[in-house]
Amino acid sequence: MSGMAGLQRLPKAELHLHLEGSVTPELMGQLAPEASQEEIGRRFGFRDFAGFLECYKWVAEHLRGPEEYAMATRRLLASLAQQNVRYAEITLSAGVIIWRKQELAPIYDAVQREAAGSPVTVRWNLDAIRHFGAEHAMQVAELAAERVSDGVVSFGIGGDEVRGPAEWFAEVYKFASARGLRLTAHAGEIAGPESVWSALRLGAERIGHGIRAVDDPVLVRHLRDHNIPLEICISSNVATGAVESLRAHPVRRLYDAGVPIVLNTDDPGLFDTTLVREYDLAASEFGFSEEDLTRIVENGFRYAFARSAVPSAPL
Ligand SMILES: [Zn+2]
Repeated sequence: MSGMAGLQRLPKAELHLHLEGSVTPELMGQLAPEASQEEIGRRFGFRDFAGFLECYKWVAEHLRGPEEYAMATRRLLASLAQQNVRYAEITLSAGVIIWRKQELAPIYDAVQREAAGSPVTVRWNLDAIRHFGAEHAMQVAELAAERVSDGVVSFGIGGDEVRGPAEWFAEVYKFASARGLRLTAHAGEIAGPESVWSALRLGAERIGHGIRAVDDPVLVRHLRDHNIPLEICISSNVATGAVESLRAHPVRRLYDAGVPIVLNTDDPGLFDTTLVREYDLAASEFGFSEEDLTRIVENGFRYAFARSAVPSAPL
């Protein structure tokens, strides 16, 4: 591999990627023809977590039905294919769909149809909103369980870590696991290492973000020794203010401590990034060598939840 052109060519996997967050300002122009360019630019110009959530909500509100979800999926898969991403675990915010009183089945069928026609192998992660509580999360887990042989590979929780503590979801995670779903959870993005410990107690096999683990040496060793990967999303953490600055991002410290990491975009449309750009940042800002990056690319396949479905990476 030589430089970024090599990275572009290398077959890659992406494991932390929200469909709703893949919507670009350009696609929003089509989904919300009533919105001016200025309004779209202003909404996508957030600088903190609250502004990000506001924008995410606005985008999700314009995914009015199966057709809009299919359109977003088509765009996302075209971008992934263009970057030679061969395998993607895409999060569908089933929690948002339920909250908006939409029916999941026709939406899921529409996005699955798009996935079936794409060169990218896709598996879905259905995720619930932590601060909506356990009953809500159980609804999402039940929907995920119904689709476990139809493309859904995992269950997760996202949203407000502080207002929706992991302890609420012990039963939900037990149920999901018993039904054959793999387990992930957003944790340690805004809240501290204790939030990551709580997610691990739920049985989470991967941690979404988990960057605050860096503040707890015991946790860092635990992640390393138990081979639990962090789904790292550098641009996301900068854009939402989860880290003070790009330079302050702990990705290098976590990697050097032996914590397994994978690189991801989280919400490529909202954060104006691509997977190739995230690798580029790791190289240019954090001094990751080509050898390091190749190992991280391999991690994308190694820590995939649907191993049998993962095309072998010709490395
Ligand atoms: Zn996320």
